[in-house]
This record gives sequence, structure tokens and C-alpha cells, in this order.
Amino acid sequence: MECKQATVAVHSGLNIDEQYGCVVPPVYLSSTYNFTDFNTPREHDYSRRGNPGRDIVQQVLSELEGGSGAVMTSSGMSAIHLLCTVFLKPGDLLVAPHDCYGGSYRLFDSLSKRGAYNVIFIDQADENALKLALAQKPKLVLIETPSNPLLRIVDIQRICDLAHEVGALAIVDNTFLSPVLQKPLDLGADIVVHSCTKYLNGHSDLIAGAIIAKDPAIAADLAWWANNIGVTGGAFDSYLLLRGIRTLSARVLLQQSNAAAIVEYLQQQPQVKKLYYPALENHPGHKIAVKQQKGFGAMLSFELDGDEQTIRRFLSALKLFTLAESLGGVESLISHTATMTHAGMSAEARAQAGITDLLLRVSVGIEDSQDLIADLDNAFQAAVTR
Ligand code: PLP
Repeated sequence: MECKQATVAVHSGLNIDEQYGCVVPPVYLSSTYNFTDFNTPREHDYSRRGNPGRDIVQQVLSELEGGSGAVMTSSGMSAIHLLCTVFLKPGDLLVAPHDCYGGSYRLFDSLSKRGAYNVIFIDQADENALKLALAQKPKLVLIETPSNPLLRIVDIQRICDLAHEVGALAIVDNTFLSPVLQKPLDLGADIVVHSCTKYLNGHSDLIAGAIIAKDPAIAADLAWWANNIGVTGGAFDSYLLLRGIRTLSARVLLQQSNAAAIVEYLQQQPQVKKLYYPALENHPGHKIAVKQQKGFGAMLSFELDGDEQTIRRFLSALKLFTLAESLGGVESLISHTATMTHAGMSAEARAQAGITDLLLRVSVGIEDSQDLIADLDNAFQAAVTR
């Protein structure tokens, strides 16, 4: 029976325990597995290479993204690093978005400076810049849409087509939307990468990553390298991630409807100088978002009118939004991009990407939306009080 995504997220891997009939798969903590006889290993021999719990979560991830195989890794960064290690040699080129996640930017920048590979950061919405970059015959094109923190949207299908014309693999970082709201493999991407730390787990109590590939040979190659390098996810983390994924659809849809209510409120706030959310018709990526996404997600950012003191007063008055990095958890978070998530980028690089010192990024949780709005309202009042 072909099931919908929300059903797959709940049912994949249930009732597979033959010994006790456990409905939920147990946590397989053993690091090693006995051989049944001389030179006769079982399906698993060592937990870095394969763990039954990790197998289950990899299977669910693959099904949710519509791939042919997945690798769960110790973090989103180790997943991204694994991809670069597998596909890029010294001299090979990676084309990345100029406003990609700050940690990805730092990784590409630092490793390219050591000669591991070359990277160019471009505005992928700029067709000319894209064509110039692709003319240099990259091996990999990384797409991140919506981007962090300005929610810029790029056309996945278009960029994948152009990347394929020059023989490059197209990778999409789908962390911000999750497969509930965007399916990059259906739009032509070869590989999807996630920070599972975010929406997939959804409870801010785990660091993990995942790679999902369309081609089974690529999926197998990535699994081989993940074991070789030693970046596979741990047993307990696999269990936690699977538990988080069970409620993925319900969480993401509620977070998204809370975000829509907050955006409506923020639009009426005179202290909000700029508001970034792809559902807004004046958002430059709105039309593409409508075309390629199943919703607008629960991330938004805005610029406060004022100075550092205004930001300080606003943030310290908030009670329900925690000042913290990360996103995608059930609790609402707020971060000051320049000093937190994107502090690893130089001031010039931030300016080039359009990230000002007055920008705040919000990850909307599943609390009651009226409570969240009341909290913001109180903070706006505190911010203007001198
Ligand atoms: N990709 C995106 C879009 C992210 O936001 C993050 C982390 O914030 C990462 C990758 C890295 O993931 P992790 O923190 O799990 O290593």
C-alpha cells in the first residue's frame, strides 16, 4: 500500500521486532556483533559501519525524501564535509550560495584555503553569475533554499538543469523546510543534505545530519565513505532522530501556521523595518516558492528599526522566544545573526549577503500563537522605552 508522507514517518520501521513484538524498535547499543561461525559475519559486524537502529532511520529518511538510500551522520556539518570529501579533489570546483549557512561557508572557505578544493560563492538567483560560475565546470553545485537567514529562494529545477548540463552534481540543503514542505529530488537534485538537528528531530536535543541520494550507487558510495571516515550517527542518536521524525508532519504544519500568524502581526509593527518571509508577495522569491514548495515554512527574519540598544532591549524583554542559535525545535527561538549564526563570516561577506547588524532570525515553535504574539508585543514596547 502506497502511503502518504505523514503515515510513512509514523509507520516506517514499526513492528519489526520478532523476538518480543516491540511496536517501537529498540535501541541497539552494542558496538560489535558476533560472527555466527568462522568467516561468517551477520548483517552487521561493527556499529560504525552498520547499526540496526540507524538502518531504520536511514530508511525513513530515504522514503520521506523519495531517495534510493540515505546515510545518517554525526552532524549536518559532517554530512556536508562528507559530500565534499567524496566528490571533490584538489583543483575541483564547488559552487555554493553566497548566503549559505555560516558553518558551511566557514568549512568551504577554510578547506579551500588549504587546497582541498576550490569554491566560489555566488548569488544563485543571479542568472549571469550562475552561468559564469558553471562555465568553470564545477563538480558540485550546492543549493540552499530558503537560505539562512534571509529566506532567499532560488529555483531548484532551473539550477539543477544548468548544473547537469556541465556535468556537475546538484546538492540541495533541505534543512529549512524538511521533506514535508519541499522535495528537491523530485525537482531534479541528485542529493539532499540535512541538518537533522533541526526540523527532522524537532526537539533541540540532538546533533545529527543526513544525506539522501537519488542514485543507489551514489548512496552506497556515500555509506562506504561515511564508515571509512567514521562520521556515521550513533545508536542513541538514531533512536532519538527516529522518535522525532514520527511527529515531523504535525510539528512542521503547526509551526508553519504559527509563523503565518506572527508574520501577519509583524507586518503591522512600525518598528519592523524589513520582514523576510517567502509567503509575502513582495518577497523576491515568492513566485518560485509557490511553484516548488508545499508551504512557506516556519522560519522568518526581520530588521528592527533602531540600534544595538534597541536590539538589546527587545531581546531581553522576550520571555517565550529563547535567544539561541539553531532552529526547527518545538520551542520558539530567536537569534541575532551577525553575532551568532553568521559570526564566522567576515563583516564584508555578511554585508555582501545583505545581513545587517539589526537582523533577527526567528524559528517559530508549536506554542500557542497568541502567546507568542503577546510576547513579541511586549518586547516591542520595551524596545522603544528608553
Ligand atoms: N545546514 C543548515 C541550513 C543549517 O542551518 C545548519 C546548522 O544550523 C547546518 C547545515 C549544519 O548542521 P549541524 O549544526 O547539525 O552540524
